[in-house]
Amino acid sequence: MTINEIFLEVKDLRTQFFTDEGVVKAVDGADFRVRRGKTVCLVGESGCGKSVTARSILQIVDKPGRIVEGQILLHRASGEVVDLAKLSATGKAMRAIRGKEIALIFQEPMSSLSPVHKIGNQIIEAIRLHFDTNKREARARAVDLLNRVGIPNADQRIDAYVFQLSGGMRQRAMIAMALSCKPSLLIADEPTTALDVTTEATILDLIKELQKDLNMTIMFITHDLGVVAEIADDVVVMYLGKVVERGDVDTIFHYPKHPYTRALQKSIPKLGYAGRERLKTIRGMVPHPFARPKGCNFHPRCESFMPGFCDRIDPPLVTLSKDADVRCLLFGGTDADQKESHGSQEEA
Ligand code: SF4
Repeated sequence: MTINEIFLEVKDLRTQFFTDEGVVKAVDGADFRVRRGKTVCLVGESGCGKSVTARSILQIVDKPGRIVEGQILLHRASGEVVDLAKLSATGKAMRAIRGKEIALIFQEPMSSLSPVHKIGNQIIEAIRLHFDTNKREARARAVDLLNRVGIPNADQRIDAYVFQLSGGMRQRAMIAMALSCKPSLLIADEPTTALDVTTEATILDLIKELQKDLNMTIMFITHDLGVVAEIADDVVVMYLGKVVERGDVDTIFHYPKHPYTRALQKSIPKLGYAGRERLKTIRGMVPHPFARPKGCNFHPRCESFMPGFCDRIDPPLVTLSKDADVRCLLFGGTDADQKESHGSQEEA
């Protein structure tokens, strides 16, 4: 991957929550790159740090959380590189980036759209915040955007409130608001999880179409591997705040290496599945944040567990081929110089 291809680089990102009970390491040294104009999917079960990673990029981590270490390098087309992790969350520079260069859409439209304001006014406000334009021009642009995301009678629906729209229409309105400032990066945090499959397919097609039209880079957060197959160019698999595998979508689907990635894949129904057998599940659950297992965090659930190694050594991210990495001792990292993990039970 050349430097010109990279849009965003996340390096050793650590975001922690300082609670009365202890420190929650929500993102624990995440490393990955996002290619310009491509779609990367962040995959993993709930509680694996995907959403906190996205919120860290935009510096909207809720208190008592904060970024404690790492870099989030935004590579602008001009060649300028900005470390978002170093910017003040409330400063002018970050506020200019948020919404304009990087926009976020959520699973639940009500979390980003106000129920007491007309959707049009919310889009117009976003446009006028970032562009020097009058209200009439901003309204015309808002109608155009609502048309573009497939809202019928957009010139009338612009004056509707969120509660007057169906679930699919709300999602479209939220996408229109996110796209109102033509962001270079759209972060979509499980935007289709609450939708029925037909609406989900329509929204995914819409996002792909808009990506092509606007030459956008997309970071898509999901736990649904069906969605990943549909939309991703690259995949980043996360477990307990760490990246455990990353690579292009074909490699991840056809040659998954990490036992967690393989287990996730086995848990989805295949075409021709008769439904008579039970679907495979990953044994156990994502551990409590204060009870992280020592060594490899995945070892209590892993089918390839190697006693004496996996419960002792914290595996490093090993590069297997160009742009493909895995964090598992089956693929290296057992050298004598490898530091032993002391787990975070004691640290927390
Ligand atoms: Fe499984 Fe060991 Fe690899 Fe962890 S390091 S994923 S426990 S084989």
